[in-house]
Amino acid sequence: MYSVVLSSAPYGIESFLVRVEVDVSSGLPGFDMVGMPGGEVKEAKERVRVALKNIGIALPPQKITVNLSPANLRKKGTALDLPIAVGILAAMEEIEEEKLRGILFLGELGLNANLESVNGVLPSVILAKDKGLKKCIVPACNAKEGAVVDGVDVIGIENLKELIDYLKGEGNPGDFKALHISLKKLLKEESVKSEYDFADVKGQEGLKRGAEIAAAGFHHFMMIGPPGAGKTMIAKRIPSILPPLGERESLEVSKIYSISGLLSDERPIILKRPFCNPHHTITEQALSGGGNHPKPGVISLSHRGVLFLDEAAHFSKAAIEILRQPMEDKKIEVSRTYGTFIYPADFMLVLATNPCPCGYYPDRNKCRCSPAEIKRYMSKLSGPIMDRIDISVTAQSMKLKELEGGGPPSEDSASIRRRISLAREIQKKRFRGKEIDFNAQMNAKEVEEYCILEPAAKTYMQRAYEALGLSARGYHKILKVARTIADLDGKEIIDNRHLAEAIGLRIREDIYG
Ligand SMILES: [Zn+2]
Repeated sequence: MYSVVLSSAPYGIESFLVRVEVDVSSGLPGFDMVGMPGGEVKEAKERVRVALKNIGIALPPQKITVNLSPANLRKKGTALDLPIAVGILAAMEEIEEEKLRGILFLGELGLNANLESVNGVLPSVILAKDKGLKKCIVPACNAKEGAVVDGVDVIGIENLKELIDYLKGEGNPGDFKALHISLKKLLKEESVKSEYDFADVKGQEGLKRGAEIAAAGFHHFMMIGPPGAGKTMIAKRIPSILPPLGERESLEVSKIYSISGLLSDERPIILKRPFCNPHHTITEQALSGGGNHPKPGVISLSHRGVLFLDEAAHFSKAAIEILRQPMEDKKIEVSRTYGTFIYPADFMLVLATNPCPCGYYPDRNKCRCSPAEIKRYMSKLSGPIMDRIDISVTAQSMKLKELEGGGPPSEDSASIRRRISLAREIQKKRFRGKEIDFNAQMNAKEVEEYCILEPAAKTYMQRAYEALGLSARGYHKILKVARTIADLDGKEIIDNRHLAEAIGLRIREDIYG
């Protein structure tokens, strides 16, 4: 007998539909699997056989053939265990094939026939919806992540035996209720919570202002300063001033985490902008993604959020080099012999670094580093990254005690976020119908179109250009940042104050460029 069961397998951060065809026929007893199964999929054979045996179902002494269609795409992961088992049961006429129509099955089988969690449930449920399927049957521990997708019934199952009862119409129907979760509601509840708040940071007004402008225009941001000046404290709080994730963004980010196996029953969906803080010893592969079993790297896990490199000058040159492509294209391509995977990587880069080997430049009481030593120290960052950083702030030397100390409370993240949200609304209107969303993404032509200076500011800019010896790129970066500052100020035309502040936030090409 022959049966077909629908399932899916991951490709990049999406899933594609897999038709699991099973044929049980007379012939030499055996179990063959074809259709480009990956390593874990090949092992499904044993897991399925033992799991069925342990719930009292012996495989018939016949020839069992499983074909995974389309045969030209490699299938990875363990989620095909369940559809293979169900397909065999249908081909053995243990369950009616009729009952399997329009259902997508996913799940790894333990030897005791329990369903274990699998990666990529969210993109699979989204796929099911796109294909017009009405129901997904998944391991109970993965049900919540799928349940945020409207229009598909997601049913979580603990054990294969339970599933067979359900498909036969036995057991308590109340146990098999579809789970539905309102993503909108979850996001709303989440937006008021924040682990870290700017209210906890005293002083360092310059860093805070830099962070605010960076967050408002999605500018990449660098903090230079001595150890213990609160750079990390500030970086950790940047997600708290970014506008909350929207529904579409939340699904997009959650898909990346789903494929990476980083969602769980406790955290079934990503509701906050990510903040990734890799150590400077991170390997290039962990940063970019890929490997034998390609999966997203840290830069993709930072998608729509913040990628924070602390002690940036200590990262390997190769690791820094990897950032170049995604900072340009907002995605990263990972090539393998059996395919090219594209992972999204649209992040705000935040760097913190000491200014020199000793950490205390320009405090000449403490720092004896020569200009050449300072240049060499920063040289790893200079080529690939400095060009793309719009805002750089030098932190004042402060003691941690002062940062956390008494005095009046500092402005909290919610108030800063309100200003940023207004500036983002202005940008949304400005760039409607364009390919970009934020000031930081403007090209030279757009800078010319949208960064209108009042006459006095024009003269000022001309003078600054000559006096500071700016490069064309440096000139454009100043205008983009001035645009964001004017947006925060609610002004259409950029004036002298906006420009002066933007010039103060530029990267000092003479020292670090
Ligand atoms: Zn020094």
